[in-house]
Amino acid sequence: MDLLHAFVLPELGVRGAAVRLGAGYREVLSHQPYADAVGRWLGETLAAATLLLTGLKFRGRLSLQLQGGTVLELMYAECTSEGDLRGIARVAEAANDLGRGFDVAAAGAVLAITLEPWQRGERYQGIVPLAGTTLAESLEGYFAQSEQLPTRILLAADGELAAGLLLQRLPAEGGHGAADADGWNRVEHLLGTVAPPELLATDSELLLHRLFHDLERIARDPVPLHVRCRCSREKVADVLRRIGREEAFAASHTLGHAEVVCEFCGRTYRFDPVEIEQLFHPPVGPSSERPQ
Ligand SMILES: [Zn+2]
Repeated sequence: MDLLHAFVLPELGVRGAAVRLGAGYREVLSHQPYADAVGRWLGETLAAATLLLTGLKFRGRLSLQLQGGTVLELMYAECTSEGDLRGIARVAEAANDLGRGFDVAAAGAVLAITLEPWQRGERYQGIVPLAGTTLAESLEGYFAQSEQLPTRILLAADGELAAGLLLQRLPAEGGHGAADADGWNRVEHLLGTVAPPELLATDSELLLHRLFHDLERIARDPVPLHVRCRCSREKVADVLRRIGREEAFAASHTLGHAEVVCEFCGRTYRFDPVEIEQLFHPPVGPSSERPQ
């Protein structure tokens, strides 16, 4: 099972999270024919979205969206506090630069973190400046700048597994021994010993034990993660209403029905001409006639 482990290391004044995605990651990749490099970046983005969720103080959704890169046109991953995960990537048609690295593919893109509480509170969006050569470096820079909290993030993915580890210094007023000036240096040192192959190959619990076995570690219950799409026939109907009656009918000409495939999960929604007509003239009562 894919699990998200959140924990605090009180002696170091550090909070952290570790994740390793297998089945969920492979399911996301199965919905689109991604090039290897794109599949790896999408895996890192999925892992990152789950790690960042652990800092959330409310129930809701966190999404990471990179948009408008010269090669990487879109990369999106979201995770909810219920552990529902989904993601997608899109590259430019003539993309043949994938071998030159994430920073080249993402050049020119805007990367945003969006937090959406289910209930009270405002939607929040932060723009993450692209920095260094990896997604992890950009996110580290964002936290250092926006929250003034030293943060280290390791991400790795290989098309089968996607894994990540996040460590962040707790704000000083937390009192959890944050005064320990050596604590953060120790974190840096420990993380320096973890190479991407180890991150991918090692179960999260085992990795945390290896790194922190001589420290007190307060762990929260792990959050099970599932790929779950929130698409629905009603949402697709809204899309068809927005594109307009004429366009919706035009879309149904070839097949005899309009067909909408969800990019995230591959589910197909079909609307025949009678159903399309109903979208624009919904029956208002028992006496209304169904168009022939
Ligand atoms: Zn869907």
